[in-house]
Amino acid sequence: PSGIEMATLSHAKIPTIKFTKLFINGHFVDSVSGKTFETIDPRTGEVIARIAEATKEDIDLAVKAAREAFDNGPWPRMPGVARARIMLKYADLIEENIEELAALDTIDAGKLYSGCKAGEIPQVAATLRYYAGAADKIHGETLKMSRELQGYTLMEPIGVVGHIIPWNFPSSLFFAKVSPALAVGCTMILKPAEQTPLSALFYAHLAKLAGIPDGVLNVVPGFGPTAGAAISSHMDIDAVSFTGSTEVGREVMQAAAKSNLKPVSLELGGKSPMIIFDDADVDTAAELALRGIVYNKGEICVAGSRVFVQEGIYDEFEKKLVEKAKAWVVGDPFDPEVQQGPQCDKKQFDKILSYIEHGKRQGATLLTGGKPIGDKGYYIEPTIFAYVKEDMLIARDEIFGPVMALSKFKTIEEAIKKANNTTYGLAAGIVTKNIDTANTVSRSIRAGIIWINCYFAFDKDAPYGGYKMSGFGRDYGLDALRKYLQVKSVVTPIYNSPW
Ligand code: ADP
Repeated sequence: PSGIEMATLSHAKIPTIKFTKLFINGHFVDSVSGKTFETIDPRTGEVIARIAEATKEDIDLAVKAAREAFDNGPWPRMPGVARARIMLKYADLIEENIEELAALDTIDAGKLYSGCKAGEIPQVAATLRYYAGAADKIHGETLKMSRELQGYTLMEPIGVVGHIIPWNFPSSLFFAKVSPALAVGCTMILKPAEQTPLSALFYAHLAKLAGIPDGVLNVVPGFGPTAGAAISSHMDIDAVSFTGSTEVGREVMQAAAKSNLKPVSLELGGKSPMIIFDDADVDTAAELALRGIVYNKGEICVAGSRVFVQEGIYDEFEKKLVEKAKAWVVGDPFDPEVQQGPQCDKKQFDKILSYIEHGKRQGATLLTGGKPIGDKGYYIEPTIFAYVKEDMLIARDEIFGPVMALSKFKTIEEAIKKANNTTYGLAAGIVTKNIDTANTVSRSIRAGIIWINCYFAFDKDAPYGGYKMSGFGRDYGLDALRKYLQVKSVVTPIYNSPW
């Protein structure tokens, strides 16, 4: 289609893959079963490397190492400032390896190389530094007791943590989980998604170089129903932090409940609304809305997948949006001119195309896009459906692709009602110059993140997580420390009176 160019697929920058084994107790090791799995380049559908596959036996070994490191190792016992120093070194090492790390995420997940290099990987280092700054400032409080007792609380690390992450942000999510857990003195096992193990293993190597003691951070690639389930059901893991789909989040919570009742935090799916009011600058709003759905090829849980536009500017908005979508450049994510790479894998690619078919069948108007691009790799055109009704599948389900459901509204009340008509509650965008409108809507939307006159305004300082079936618990901000801590009350009589 006009405006969309396919850049030539380039293999030029593919780095040599150095780490393909499980990282347990400070060493790269084969899996107990000897099994391996393929990781695929979504630009071409070709195999990049074979990776050791963790199953239950390997998870047991990793948990044993993490347990020993927690119960007897130096990490939870050293002063926070000493942990911070190692975390700062870790951040420096990441910065020294930005290009290689960015290239690994590009070939493994189809992410834009330029975005990883200038944005995501530097932000990962910033996240580590942010939590390093918190490592020596975690403390309990003195309690005002109602009797002649002296009471205070201790904030203790929760223990051995299991992190399970998806494939859309292999680097950011690794450090969203690992950094606060390291800061408070936990030890951990992280399972990257089976689609994107490469950067996680590189980060494991850098952790060792930085001086993180053996057993503190174990990285175990493998599949969800085997390795993932072994983590969520493990009797010796003290907490699980999960990011992924709502369906799997439910399984993780069930497994945690059925095993040792470990607390879980779940950052799950979304179907986030962007609400654009008549007073908005139409061109800016159309740009924001497009980026809201095509950023990271729509593979982001906070994608602005439902766009509601007030009737006064609707026609002009629609026209601009379609023009912009047609000019959006999809192609090889290494090409600096390209704005959107391939979907992460074949499963995701097929799922998105099937939702597009549903949209057409259920009678939504396809304004632009709707087709795959090229005959190699998993590229999909930016796709915009208009006149989408609230009960259509494309308005309800998280598609996780560059597919927008656009519709019109008249009043602010109608917009709020429609925006909240979802089982999810992750994020929302509001575009207006009217502060009353912005305040009213931001307080009326049941979602964990509200962006006013911006979208994807990520900042490690801001807690990130969902309402409703988008989960609970927060990554980022000082809030994230809480899920890796537990509170202990210590009480003693003030006078030597008997109790
Ligand atoms: P997506 O649908 O976006 O691939 P998933 O929720 O399936 O996301 O996957 C997110 C993470 O959860 C991945 O690391 C995956 O391997 C893991 N996972 C999948 N199924 C399970 C399960 N039953 N138990 C634990 N983890 C799982």
